[in-house]
Amino acid sequence: ASTLDAALDLIAEIPDFPEPGVLFRDLTPLFGDAEAFAAVIDALGAAVGHDVDRLVAVEARGFVLAAALGYARRLGVALVRKPGKLPNVAGRVDYALEYGQATLELPVGSVREGQRVAIVDDVLATGGTVAATAELVRSAGAVITGVSVVLELADLGARKRLPGLPVHALRTV
Ligand code: 5GP
Repeated sequence: ASTLDAALDLIAEIPDFPEPGVLFRDLTPLFGDAEAFAAVIDALGAAVGHDVDRLVAVEARGFVLAAALGYARRLGVALVRKPGKLPNVAGRVDYALEYGQATLELPVGSVREGQRVAIVDDVLATGGTVAATAELVRSAGAVITGVSVVLELADLGARKRLPGLPVHALRTV
């Protein structure tokens, strides 16, 4: 197997978290392995491509990926937050989770009109988080070039919720 395959094989499967019946994909072992982490960041960099001005990531694991990728590629990072963290909110979106509701906020000045932005996250599940993030980015007048994730859970149908958005997953299960 390639270095990237070996890295992705480190993702653990945790049954019944955060609730019964859910198989949680845990990237902790991947983040903890220097070679694996580097291989994943390099692969995400290739997935993001070159026609990009800025990365956008969602709290919290997305921040880790986007920080490393932003450094490697010399790209600034916009950090989409859970509510109540930001002093200056440019945009807020409420969205439905499988159970319940969530809110995300975009910091003022984090994304500029006309910027070409790539969204980065660890796991793409239902796509609700990325769809909400895309809405925030578009409201700020930026253009989304694509979505790059480490792992896509295909059965949850995220791509249908993200029409017109190129999705790059390092692994799809
Ligand atoms: P979605 O909104 O696509 O349903 O869920 C994606 C968001 O929830 C991502 O920000 C991701 O971090 C988190 N998430 C959902 N399922 C998992 C999972 O199995 N493992 C991890 N690590 N994160 C998940």
